[in-house]
Order: sequence, then C-alpha cells, then structure tokens
Amino acid sequence: MLCANPEAGFLHRRLGSESQRAKTGLASFEPTRKSALCHLIVVGGHTRSIGKTQLVCDLIATFPDERWLAGKITQYGHGVCAQNGKDCDCAPTEHVVALDWELPGRPLTKENSDTARFLEAGAARAFWLRTKQGYLAEGMPLLRDALAAPRNKANQGCADLNVIIESNSLLQFVKPSLYLVVFDASREDFKDSARLMLDRADVFVHRPGADESDAAGSRRLQLPSKLLREKPSLRQRLGEPLPESLRQLVKRVLESPPTVTI
Ligand SMILES: [Zn+2]
Repeated sequence: MLCANPEAGFLHRRLGSESQRAKTGLASFEPTRKSALCHLIVVGGHTRSIGKTQLVCDLIATFPDERWLAGKITQYGHGVCAQNGKDCDCAPTEHVVALDWELPGRPLTKENSDTARFLEAGAARAFWLRTKQGYLAEGMPLLRDALAAPRNKANQGCADLNVIIESNSLLQFVKPSLYLVVFDASREDFKDSARLMLDRADVFVHRPGADESDAAGSRRLQLPSKLLREKPSLRQRLGEPLPESLRQLVKRVLESPPTVTI
C-alpha cells in the first residue's frame, strides 16, 4: 500500500537510514544540537522575594539596546504539575516541563508576573520555563529551542544573542558568562540549589538590611567566609540604580565575543 502521508513517508525513510547507521557503529551519531552562541547572565539567590527579579530588570533597563531574551526558571515541588503549578492529577512523569512566552496582551498570569516585568523593563522577549522538582534536564531541550528560535528581522545579522535568566539550578547544566547571586541576610531561608552553586558565583549582590552589618548577616546565614572574602561583592538596596562596578562588568561581558552555548 502506498503511504499518502508525507510525514509518515519521511519517518519511514528516517527509520531506514537509522537502521543502516546502526550497522556502521557509533561514528555515525550526530552531535547534539546546541543553542546559538550567546552571552548568558544568570541571576540566582538564596531564597524568594529578595529582589532577584528586580536585579534582572535593572540589568535589562541599564542596557536597553541589547534586545535581551529574558527568562525565569521555576521548579515546583514534588508532585506538583509543571503546566499550571498546581495538583492536576497528572502522573508523576506527565507534564514535567512547560515553557511559555510572555506576550504583550496575552499575560501568562493574571497578576503582574515576573516575565511581564522583564518585558516592561525592556526585554525583547521573555519566557517562563517551569519543571517539576528534579526535572530540569527534561526542560533543557525546550530552553535550547527557545534560544535557537529564529531571530526577528530587526536583530538579523548584527547583534549578539543576549540572554538573562533567573535561576540557580541552571548552573548544573551550563557555565554562564556571569552568575550573580543575590543575598538578603534578613531572610534566613537558604535553598539547597543556591548553596550548592555558591562557589560558582562571580559577584554577590547584598541587599543590605536596615539595622544589621553585612558581616553579621553573613554569619547568621552561615555563608562560607572564605568564599565571601575571595569573591567580589557589592551592595544595592532595592530601588537603587545598578552599582557602577556591576554596570562596567556587564558591559565588558557584552562587548566580548559570545561563547556560551546550551
Ligand atoms: Zn499536570
């Protein structure tokens, strides 16, 4: 019988060629497809609500011409659906990842979502990658596709791909151009994913409390003091402009050739 479905025909041909390749051995495997080369800035922090999203927005707004591709990665707790962040009765291995683009006029959430704030700050595009806890590996192909999506015409052939992502866990999978870690010593909660990645931080951004020294706060959070001494750190209260030293550092990164691929 003739196959009328061109896609099915393609599948047959592909399967045929794959079985031929299997006979010839490992040498015929294709390398995994990678994202475009990019500048990648990752913003993490030890817990929620300490101004990680604000730091992403500050960076986007400080460099308004960079056509940022901005994203946020959220890992939900065990048993929680990645599609809607709630219990939707899906099996543990169902709905493990979801990636959505924030578009003007079609908000991802009713309230002012973090990705909407990225667009308001001036990002060209913004996405939200959600996974069940421990399933970020399954989300990486979606992220790779997001970073390989066709560039729009205004961007073609000139600008580099500039990506900024709010996450700690992404550090398990990629070495970014820059990893900024936000600390607020008044908040004691410390995510394991953040503690694990502390050594990878390029700069610590402290959110100073009203009545406590940075040193006292660091002791209370049990931050490794050697790490803190060795790494550059700076202070920025919420609402203050991006510190000049950080602006200079990011400028140097953006001016250097893009080297990160996912
Ligand atoms: Zn579900």
